[in-house]
Amino acid sequence: MDISEKLIYLDNAATSQIPDEVLRDILSQLQYNFGNPNAKYKVGSFANDFLETSRHVVASRIGALSNEIYFTSGATESNNWAFYSVLNQQENVPSVITSAIEHESVLEPLKHLEREGKIKLKIIDVDGKGRLLVHDYLKAFDSSTVLVSIMYANNEIGTIQDIELLSQIAHSHGALFHCDAVQAVGHEYFDLHILNNIDYLSASAHKFHGPKGIGFLYVKEGCPLNPLLYGGGQEMKMRSGTQNVPYIVAMAEALEWSLYKKEHYEELFEAWQNYLIDTLCSEISGCMLTGSSSHRLNHLCSFVIDGVDTETLLMLLDQDGICVSAGSACSSGSLEISHVLKAIGLDDSVSRGALRISYSYLNTFEEIKYAAQKIIDAVKRCRSFTGDF
Ligand code: PLP
Repeated sequence: MDISEKLIYLDNAATSQIPDEVLRDILSQLQYNFGNPNAKYKVGSFANDFLETSRHVVASRIGALSNEIYFTSGATESNNWAFYSVLNQQENVPSVITSAIEHESVLEPLKHLEREGKIKLKIIDVDGKGRLLVHDYLKAFDSSTVLVSIMYANNEIGTIQDIELLSQIAHSHGALFHCDAVQAVGHEYFDLHILNNIDYLSASAHKFHGPKGIGFLYVKEGCPLNPLLYGGGQEMKMRSGTQNVPYIVAMAEALEWSLYKKEHYEELFEAWQNYLIDTLCSEISGCMLTGSSSHRLNHLCSFVIDGVDTETLLMLLDQDGICVSAGSACSSGSLEISHVLKAIGLDDSVSRGALRISYSYLNTFEEIKYAAQKIIDAVKRCRSFTGDF
């Protein structure tokens, strides 16, 4: 097939495609392994074997124990669950520290708790590359700090935080540490034996080639956890409701698949990233990389392009069969000025030209090169509409 007839999907930080290997697992689970994992006859215990094997796979891939993994509907649920578990137990009004560039599923529940008067929220700024200001972070702790929530890697600009240091600082002040690792699980190697100051960690399967609506919360043994749903007592009595075994099996398979592919794609991804940064920044005047150039995810690059309106750019690229994004969109699908770009110090006028390209193991260099050329052409067309350049 000619490349111009293909759909070129480069928005993997939003969601990722399910590879055939994982799809086959889902179908065979739906077809043959339909038993309720909590039923006591053979078909049930067969489903339960798959459920617990998947828990073991997920746990071992991040350096956790099986009994530290709770399956959820995704990271939004995992984030909320961790917060309510820690914060509902407090007698006095505790303080919570987070960063200005967290995902809405971290910022919104915390702001909600603050509005209700249940917590004091301290939001720490980042520098121009999206790295947390450690000096401000250190100053934010006091005796009332019970919880810190910092993301591993940012979903819009790909900047990676020094989680080892930040979690160690939190523990040294007696606070629990939660990490939203949605953009990193399946993309970075995790070992919670090494990152042993992380108490809670959230992930969503669809960011690493699993299905949507399934994820997990890691809770270090001994850390507070309140039941989220009461009922039949599934998930170690913490989240009642019959587990979605086909999707849980698929999540475990997707995690193994992604980490296996990662070994082979490490250098390629770096080359693709360098190619995109070099090509777009040299061929498009007023195009600037956002985020850190040294501490960043290698499957994501993000830019702001002067004098370009992202909505128009994305529409033109969509007509060419290329899916990229601005980095953030609200549920209505319309683009809002990103709080992340604001936090790294960009003016609203500059942020209106945001572009995020995130590729996967299912892409090829040919696609990357083709998309880069189409982006260059589309920027020219955008600018010709306004006559600014
Ligand atoms: N955290 C981060 C960093 C994300 O990028 C996302 C989704 O984009 C989420 C949390 C929420 O994940 P989900 O929508 O799967 O619950």
